[in-house]
Amino acid sequence: MDFALTEEQSAIFDMAFAFGQDNIAPHARQWEADGTIPKDLWPQIGALGFGGLYVSEDSGGAGLTRLDATLVFEALSMACPSVAAFLSIHNMCARMLDSFADEALKARVMADVISMNTVLSYCLTEPGSGSDAAALKTRADRTNEGYTLNGTKAFISGGGYSDAYIAMVRTGEDGPKGISTVYIEDGTPGLSFGGLEDKMGWRSQPTAQVQFDDCKIPAGNLVGQEGHGFKYAMMGLDGGRLNIAACSLGAAQIAINQTLDYMGERKAFGKPIDQFQGLQFRLADMEIDLQAARVFLRQAAWKLDQGAPDATKHCAMAKKFVTEAGSRIVDQCLQLHGGYGYLADYGIEKLVRDLRVHQILEGTNEIMRVITARHMLETRG
Ligand SMILES: Cc1cc2nc3c(=O)[nH]c(=O)nc-3n(C[C@H](O)[C@H](O)[C@H](O)COP(=O)(O)OP(=O)(O)OC[C@H]3O[C@@H](n4cnc5c(N)ncnc54)[C@H](O)[C@@H]3O)c2cc1C
Repeated sequence: MDFALTEEQSAIFDMAFAFGQDNIAPHARQWEADGTIPKDLWPQIGALGFGGLYVSEDSGGAGLTRLDATLVFEALSMACPSVAAFLSIHNMCARMLDSFADEALKARVMADVISMNTVLSYCLTEPGSGSDAAALKTRADRTNEGYTLNGTKAFISGGGYSDAYIAMVRTGEDGPKGISTVYIEDGTPGLSFGGLEDKMGWRSQPTAQVQFDDCKIPAGNLVGQEGHGFKYAMMGLDGGRLNIAACSLGAAQIAINQTLDYMGERKAFGKPIDQFQGLQFRLADMEIDLQAARVFLRQAAWKLDQGAPDATKHCAMAKKFVTEAGSRIVDQCLQLHGGYGYLADYGIEKLVRDLRVHQILEGTNEIMRVITARHMLETRG
């Protein structure tokens, strides 16, 4: 057993960290105020190989492991969790295309997806179905040329902003087996978007409903096989959960780093506040939480890379544990900054807001417990 990062992994982390500190962190607050991330950031990220992190090298991707990818998200999230998490969604979609799309669709879209000239959104949730995603109602009816889509997707990160949408739609019976995955380019007639959602965090990411009204797509935009879409969507989520957890981890790390500095400078009752043992114990508790979260996350990523039979359970457990630890830590960091923690200038309140949603999406943390318990019950002796 080896817990050390390889030289290559350390280099990946360092590259992502440096890019984030130089190109994202200085602008993160402005992008929040603008409610959008400049589109020209993405091709720069694509040039680093981060547009197809675990897309195979044969398809032009970086061919990294899931563990490697968590390092990228941890490092980028130290600049801005909202930007890092958006990249995770694109990568989830890119991997789905690489794994399941036919050669013709890949030949048409993959190069731009990897370079991030095409930014992708993942459309599973609907107004009436979130956790119970297999109850989705958006229909794709077969025509001579392809499919006609009707329905609404809710809470879509990048809705109205992305260049293409990977949507899970119903082509057959009720339940998971009637679901297929399709690729819809922006500008397709019948594709429109709701107003921007006004959110607590992730404010630099546009979130909107994605609407299909007799939206016609060619048959070649079906991803993989009809009826397999739910399986594809769930397979994407194992990795997505690791990435979101990594985003919480990176944000928690940067918050601790800032808090350590702040506590050395801030004086109360004639001494730096880092001299109060009660506060030192809080620092220690945060560090224990953080290190435990990191090891647990990396183990889950390793399991997914190995194709371990309990990988899905570990991804779910890590997502729950790490996102909750991350939120606890950034909240404590805010507290240790006193009133200044509550001010936007200090950067901590943004992390508290950004991280909160990590307990809700990519499957809520209640659903992570459902997955964990189900696996325990299924595998008991
Ligand atoms: C900012 C933001 C961005 C998002 N981006 C995307 C995106 O890009 N693409 C996308 O497809 N979706 C996206 N989502 C949607 C997100 O995945 C869903 O909100 C999430 O899956 C929960 O679904 P829901 O909101 O319908 O809650 P519900 O499913 O209605 O759940 C309500 C509550 O009931 C609990 N609950 C439900 N079922 C069970 C159960 N069986 N056992 C125990 N508890 C249960 C839930 O945990 C939750 O606490 C985004 C959401 C947000 C807030």
